[in-house]
Amino acid sequence: MKSKILIVEDETAIREMLTFSLMQSGYVVLQAKTALEALKILDESTADMAIIDWGLPQMSGLELVERIRDNEVIADMPIMMLTARAQEEDKVKGLETGVDDYMTKPVSIKELQARIKAQLRRSSGFKKSHVLEAGKILMDLDSHKISIDGNEMTLSITEFNLLKLFMKNSDKLLSREQILNHVWGRNSFVELRTVDVHILRLRKSLKKHKLEKMLKTVRGAGYKFCVE
Ligand code: CA
Repeated sequence: MKSKILIVEDETAIREMLTFSLMQSGYVVLQAKTALEALKILDESTADMAIIDWGLPQMSGLELVERIRDNEVIADMPIMMLTARAQEEDKVKGLETGVDDYMTKPVSIKELQARIKAQLRRSSGFKKSHVLEAGKILMDLDSHKISIDGNEMTLSITEFNLLKLFMKNSDKLLSREQILNHVWGRNSFVELRTVDVHILRLRKSLKKHKLEKMLKTVRGAGYKFCVE
C-alpha cells in the first residue's frame, strides 16, 4: 500500500513542488495550507507521516506538532519539520516538542526523499494505533469500519464521529457543548437539541448489538460512554 504523507506549508510554490515530487515517487499526498486545515484533515483521515513548515500563519508549525502529540490517535506519527531558520537553539526547541527530523529550506528533494524513507521504515509499526478499541467495539479510522464481536456496524458519518469522540474519551463525562464543538465544530450553527437527536440514533444502532447501555445520559450534565 502507498504511504500517505501530509504536507503542511502555506507557500503555494513550495507546497506544490513537494507534492509533485512526492507523488512522482509513489506517495499519496494530502495538502494543508494552515495548521487548522491540517488538524481537520487528520481528524478525517490518517497519514503515515507529516511534513510541517515551521512558519505558518495563525498557528505555528511547532504548535501544530504539540497538538498532534497531544492526540493519542495520531501522537506517534513521524513528523519532519521544515524551517527557514538554521539556528541551533531553534532546532533544539523543535526537537523538544517532539519533531522526529529537521530540514532547513531550501530543501534538497533527494535528501528529503531519503529522510522520509528512513522515518517510514522506523515507524512501520505505527499503523496499529489507527484502530480504536472500547470493550467489544473496534473502530478502524482508516477504513471507517466498526466491528462488534466481528459483526460490522454501519453508522452515518455524524454518528461515526460521535462514537469516535466517545471511544477516545470513554468513562469521561462530556457536556452537550463539548460534543457539539468536537463533532460539528465550534463555529457551526447547530443547536444543542441536534446533539440529542444524533445521540439517540447512535444509541439505536448500539441497541442492535445490545450495547446501548454503554452510552449513558447524565441528567443535566451530558453524556458518558462507559466501557465495562
Ligand atoms: Ca511558511
